[in-house]
Amino acid sequence: MSHSRSHARYDAVKTAGSRDVRKMQRPMGGDGLPLKISEYYGSMTFSFELMEQKLSHADVDFLRGSATSNNPITKELAEKIAHVVKEWALSKGATHYSHWFQPQTGATAEKHDSFFTFDSNGGAIEKFTSSMLIQAEPDASSFPSGGVRATFEARGYTAWDPSSPMFLMETENGTTLCIPSVFISYSGEALDNKTPLLRSIHAMNIQATEASKLLGHDHIKHVMVTAGPEQEYFLIDESFYNLRSDVMLSGRTLLGKTPPRHQQLEDHYFGSIKTRVLNFMMEVDCELYKLGVPIKTRHNEVAPAQYEAAPIYENANVAADHNQLTMEIIKNVARRHRLVALFHEKPYAGINGSGKHVNWSMADSDGNNLLEPGDNPESNVRFLYFLTATIKAIHDHSSMIRSSIASPGNDHRLGANEAPPAIISVFLGDTLSEVFDRITGSKSGNMPERSSTINLDLAKVPVIRKDSTDRNRTSPFAFTGNKFEFRAVGASASISIPLTMVNAAVAQSLSEMNAMIKAKAGGARPSEKQILEVIQEVSKATEKVRFEGDNYSEQWHKEAERRGLPNLKTSPEALKVLKDKKIHDVLERQGIMGASETVSRYNVTLERYIKVRLIEMECLSDMVTNHVLPALYSHQNLLAQSIKQTKDADIAPSPHQVGELKEISALTDSILSAKAKLNAFLSKCSSSHNEEEIADTIAGEGMLLVEKLAAHCNEAETRVDDTLWSLPKYREMLYMI
Ligand code: ADP
Ligand code: MG
Repeated sequence: MSHSRSHARYDAVKTAGSRDVRKMQRPMGGDGLPLKISEYYGSMTFSFELMEQKLSHADVDFLRGSATSNNPITKELAEKIAHVVKEWALSKGATHYSHWFQPQTGATAEKHDSFFTFDSNGGAIEKFTSSMLIQAEPDASSFPSGGVRATFEARGYTAWDPSSPMFLMETENGTTLCIPSVFISYSGEALDNKTPLLRSIHAMNIQATEASKLLGHDHIKHVMVTAGPEQEYFLIDESFYNLRSDVMLSGRTLLGKTPPRHQQLEDHYFGSIKTRVLNFMMEVDCELYKLGVPIKTRHNEVAPAQYEAAPIYENANVAADHNQLTMEIIKNVARRHRLVALFHEKPYAGINGSGKHVNWSMADSDGNNLLEPGDNPESNVRFLYFLTATIKAIHDHSSMIRSSIASPGNDHRLGANEAPPAIISVFLGDTLSEVFDRITGSKSGNMPERSSTINLDLAKVPVIRKDSTDRNRTSPFAFTGNKFEFRAVGASASISIPLTMVNAAVAQSLSEMNAMIKAKAGGARPSEKQILEVIQEVSKATEKVRFEGDNYSEQWHKEAERRGLPNLKTSPEALKVLKDKKIHDVLERQGIMGASETVSRYNVTLERYIKVRLIEMECLSDMVTNHVLPALYSHQNLLAQSIKQTKDADIAPSPHQVGELKEISALTDSILSAKAKLNAFLSKCSSSHNEEEIADTIAGEGMLLVEKLAAHCNEAETRVDDTLWSLPKYREMLYMI
């Protein structure tokens, strides 16, 4: 009997087990010693510091202001910048430039043009003008537009976003200047994820600046949104990845038995980082520092082979660009280490998936974090006002916010006892809950005594300062000290749309609260009493969105239902809200998206949902045919032959062995029948034209068929001869890093 089918897998095990460490070129100083991070940080980014050396103060100030103002850049300034950036890029070896933008695929897109051209005498030169900097027109017909543009209207424009720094992307063989850009249609509709984000940041600026003024901080010029996304991901050895068509094509394992040991010993989280992985992380960090991405933290996550990288927070637009870059660099550097990075929300069944905790706050032009409670949050009116506005935003617009994190991958995570449920609630922590309970009147009397330090009574250990809130890792939107942590965002998602929706909601609630204050003050300067009244009224009206308990528990699902909080479990359900007039009104009122743009986003995301699921189903069906069934047939033969030969030797075969053969045969039958049902389902989908209906049946019936088939396959994996199993197993993929 030939066992050759499994050789590829055993070869992969051998390869993965004998990887050499990859050494990278560390940035070195003239003295032959490695540079400090601060000495090479941002060397590949066209930073304000760099501009200051080349442009006038006034020009740089104008550019710095572009993050918080909507004033267009003059042609003259653009010309100067184009010249300076060209000289800089060429001096660093760049040959090409590209507008770098974010279509609604969640990834980034680029189309390179070289600086090279001919002068009027036909001589070869390098050229870069302001118009090349400002605008480009890629043929956009192959990007999703969700119906805002017919395919024959291929025009789409990318336009430079001066509020995010240009950077140089380097590979071994060359360097390209990347120009962060928006991507819009011929008639100005957003085709990308950056345009709505920029508009939402603008809306926040207007409403939060007005709020600051109403609260007596007259000199505040602007307010910006700050964001710090913590990126989770898995690593898998390339040799296994290459043998798993499911991981390659759909980003996740569609079958695979959870091994006896996975994360239950809780020894991976914050565990010491393996040398191979640490080497990889060091190279990632180094590349990101060069690009001016302020990556700060790296550690092992809960599941085996799962990791996290987190930056120092930045203005939300730059943070979103930098998160895209972080994912790209992680992906590229992983390849150099013969690893593949997986950003899928659920690469392995039965083991924690990956999210992206998006930390969110607001900072005013004085640099104050508006969600900083200070030592006495109960009397910090500005803090209470902005906190209340955020709670109101989540209360009033939870469905809109839920829709922004809908994706097929995230459907496996949300509500699966490892990530927050699809019910969007707010966690405040003990101290602030006490404060708000007094504001709403549900408790009275003085605030309980609280100690801000933990005294360990260990002579050598210093006294530890306590945060004003504990953590609640089960909450989708948790207040964590001086910022909110939006914990339900998926790991593979662009953070632009989740940020856009949170900003839209908060801008809207601020505008309503500002109006309430103005109405009370009647043209005069609002008094503290009036402001506190508004805080009180709003806190009372939005109380039901606050939840301090365990979001994973069954009781919460019941309680949330009683409170009337929406629980949109699947993507198709969650996305439907993008057709609601109420949501169109909010987004329109805040100048973020017109109704047609919102609906187009619905179309794009729903279509992607369907496509991703159909790819998964087809892929699973192929794997069953090409891998699982042949293994079962061979194993069945093995058993049958063994029984026959036992009989030939005049020995009664073991009844258990005969039973085993029957069971294997029955399992084969179950798999064949489940696969036939899945294939029938696939043809049903391909013959229907109603996308909404298809998406709904996929989320219901389709996913059940997939799960059932996968469960049978996993049973087969544990029962057949290991040498017959050609697909890398979980234990190999998760532990052989
Ligand atoms: P955790 O313990 O929650 O995993 P991390 O330190 O990994 O914390 O990540 C916290 C993230 O929150 C960091 O990216 C940090 O920069 C970010 N952050 C801190 N303050 C703010 C703020 N004011 N606005 C936005 N993000 C912030
Ligand atoms: Mg966190």
